[in-house]
Amino acid sequence: MNSIVACGPRELEHLHVAVVESDIPRAARLLSILRSLGIHHLSVVSGLQDLSLQLSQIQVDVLVTEIRPASNDGLMLPSALKMHYGSACSLQSPRILWLAEAEPLPPFSELAEHNVASCSTPRTNRGEGISIKALDAHAQLACAAGFIAATLYSFNAKAVGDALHALFAMPKIANRSQPARNDVPSEDDVIIALATGEGLRVVFQPQHDLRTGEIVAAEALVRWCHPELGDIPPVVLIPMVNKLGLHLLLFSFVKARVLEVLCSLQSMHLQIPISVNASVDTLCTAGFSARLADRMMRSGLPNHLLKIELTEDIPVMDELCLSAALNALKARGFGVSLDDFGSGSATLRQIASMPFDEVKIDGALIRDLDTKSTARRVIATTLALARRLNMTVVAEGIETESCRILLRRLGCTNGQGFVLSRPMEVSDFLSKLTAEKQSSVPPQPFSPAPGAVRDI
Ligand code: C2E
Ligand code: MG
Ligand code: MG
Repeated sequence: MNSIVACGPRELEHLHVAVVESDIPRAARLLSILRSLGIHHLSVVSGLQDLSLQLSQIQVDVLVTEIRPASNDGLMLPSALKMHYGSACSLQSPRILWLAEAEPLPPFSELAEHNVASCSTPRTNRGEGISIKALDAHAQLACAAGFIAATLYSFNAKAVGDALHALFAMPKIANRSQPARNDVPSEDDVIIALATGEGLRVVFQPQHDLRTGEIVAAEALVRWCHPELGDIPPVVLIPMVNKLGLHLLLFSFVKARVLEVLCSLQSMHLQIPISVNASVDTLCTAGFSARLADRMMRSGLPNHLLKIELTEDIPVMDELCLSAALNALKARGFGVSLDDFGSGSATLRQIASMPFDEVKIDGALIRDLDTKSTARRVIATTLALARRLNMTVVAEGIETESCRILLRRLGCTNGQGFVLSRPMEVSDFLSKLTAEKQSSVPPQPFSPAPGAVRDI
């Protein structure tokens, strides 16, 4: 988790706040509220079309915008910021404060969950025709995407000041470890790491049978320890790798480590499939499945032990090419899995038209399972759909025991998540599998398992 960037009462004056507003009187009202708080670095952006220019000229800390039925362009701020900053968006983006009218005016005293600063009372449905619930949900989505965003249903200067303080009391990236703004690795660093393998390693996160607890598969995840900056999370590394066109190098590095582990397991008479993440560009490389099959054969490994997970980090531009690549992999006996279903671009259309044999439900949806009945219904429907399409389902991001139990009740058989096993170093992973194989005691905290790992 990042350190919290706190902004004390007197520090508001150091902020640069940009008001995104095309209506001159309304912009003037917001400016006067902000000036009354001692903020002097102010600018006005008349619309999203001017935002990029403004952001490239000055360092903006906060974007303040009013949402009204006639003018709700401000809702598109996260998308516009993503376009402007690209992969570094969550680190560089200004914080966002969405303002809307609601009566009676509530105090800004409550912070909703997930880093969304929001006035949760009163629960009037409308902020001048905008649903408060919808606006709060929009802000939550923005936060889940790595933005720091808040909603406020008051134009009272004190409430605005409190909201700005609350925005700056939030960690820069919700629930994800990210380096601080000045700690972003350079493209050269990424190139060197991939060319030399220095600082790169692969960890393994087991996937469990949710009924028995046995480890039935695993996912390989890359880790990069930068020589000066320390651990750089994949959420920063992968977009840079893709942007640099180095996805094949990364895949090749991870695949090599995975084959070593599969060979070690084989020598211990253990066999579980291991997944490697791959972008659509990797999959669509000419001759991809043939080369992979050749490599497996040279390692003395059956193809079914390697599973390819299609990640959602690059949108699918050529569905025909992807379909051909997936079919070629399946024909050679490799497993093919659709990662992060339920978020981003992993869609029903892909499930319907592509020959996946596994779908992984995104962790964000799974984490809502305990608290949101809608998440439960979506997951139950996904499970039913997968059954009809003859696909297995892996629930990702299982963080609580209650979530695991709920998933099991819903009929989900396989899961991955911190409450089951964290991603682990190769040696720990091998030891865990060996211990499970040797132990007659059922793996904890699950119910009795008949044999921890399948023997060959
Ligand atoms: P993913 O493929 O969906 O991988 C699962 C991510 O969820 C991993 O994050 C894992 O550490 C994390 N995770 C597992 N259980 C839990 C849990 O209970 N709670 C939470 N909050 N997180 C959990 P990681 O390793 O940071 O990777 C993030 C993403 O980066 C991956 O998402 C994948 O899309 C990409 N990635 C990671 N390694 C590779 C790689 O070798 N190649 C490619 N192309 N992408 C990779
Ligand atoms: Mg994955
Ligand atoms: Mg995933």
